[in-house]
Amino acid sequence: MSVERSTPATPATPATASPAVEALRARMRASTSTSSTSSTSSTSSTSKRLSPDLIPMPSIDDVLGEDSDQIQIDIAERERLEANPHLIEVVQLEEGEIDPRLKLLSHSSRQTLHKCPRKYQLYRLNGKQEVINPKEDTQKQEVTFAFGHAVGVGMQSVLEKKDESTVIMDTFLSWSTDLLDYNPKQKKSFASALFAVQRFQVLVNNGFLEEYDLLYMDGKPAVELAFQVTLPDGFVYRGFLDAVLEHKLTGEILVLENKTSSSAAVSATFKNSGQALGYSVVLDKLVSNLSSYTVLYCVYETKSYEFVEMPFSKSLLQRALWLQELIIDTHLIQLYDSYDVYPMHGENCYDFFRECEYINTCTMDTGVVTKPLTRDAIEKMEKAAEVYTYSVDFRDLIAEQIAKGESEGEVI
Ligand code: SF4
Repeated sequence: MSVERSTPATPATPATASPAVEALRARMRASTSTSSTSSTSSTSSTSKRLSPDLIPMPSIDDVLGEDSDQIQIDIAERERLEANPHLIEVVQLEEGEIDPRLKLLSHSSRQTLHKCPRKYQLYRLNGKQEVINPKEDTQKQEVTFAFGHAVGVGMQSVLEKKDESTVIMDTFLSWSTDLLDYNPKQKKSFASALFAVQRFQVLVNNGFLEEYDLLYMDGKPAVELAFQVTLPDGFVYRGFLDAVLEHKLTGEILVLENKTSSSAAVSATFKNSGQALGYSVVLDKLVSNLSSYTVLYCVYETKSYEFVEMPFSKSLLQRALWLQELIIDTHLIQLYDSYDVYPMHGENCYDFFRECEYINTCTMDTGVVTKPLTRDAIEKMEKAAEVYTYSVDFRDLIAEQIAKGESEGEVI
């Protein structure tokens, strides 16, 4: 890794520098040679003849040629960091190398990429999470996140058949913001999260999902499974699977997806969502001979205090298409990066009755409005990767899909 991130990356197809850039470089070269000439002439004016022991040694620049500047900078940088351990170590990228932060894909980051590639770039390079609902301010977003997470954890605890006090404790421990924070408009608070979990407990006690058992993997319940798909060119797709259940008689696999909604739950919101399709990749790891499965969206409406269930069947073909779309996204990012242009989809600058947070900065130079890539950031990414227990390679997935398609006679 070795080029300033703010320096435009080299296009995938080798391109020649524009005349303006060449002109600028020529001027810089001219000024360097002028200063060097003047220095030499001043030496010659005082010493007309050079005795052998005064012949100048070749400089490091002469020996190393064009690489000398970079090598000297690297050595100086290392010495500076060693002398000042508190300084932040900035990682230099190779020419044409994509910042690894831009290679981390998830369901929500892909949504941002599709809405506005420039926003995706700025989010990723600033180490931000995608906004759950851009209409909400930060505090409300924290409540939204805490609510969704706490209800999800509580529901998983119910499915694991934990006793009531443990379910309450799990829900409490997963509440990630101030206990008294609340969003009155959407009826989201810790108390309402607990109420939702207790509603779910009543449903289960009354026979909801009684034909299914929670799947166990290596003695652990298949809940909140963290998985990643390693993709070509260093890209990776990551996700979490809420819970996997198995029908007691038929062995049919049911993926439970817990959602909360502040408005009425609508089938079209979830029917073709790529999120559930991404789950199939980990299911292949968990369950042998899986061809199709059902995703059951269990949506809690905060305004009606009711759960709505929406089952959708997913086929082998849909999974194959999802994988193809995933690869297309990685190609798109590489293309944008090769031009050093992430398109600005201006039609989405005003979304959900709110201006994009980059409305006044996205036209500025990327190096000015983003954080540099640091050694610390890379280490954090490596550490975060350890959470994803189930890792699948894209090529293996494709081979499995083709084998299944052939055995089942399905066209993929
Ligand atoms: S302000 Fe508009 S163009 Fe700029 S990053 Fe946001 S959505 Fe994209």
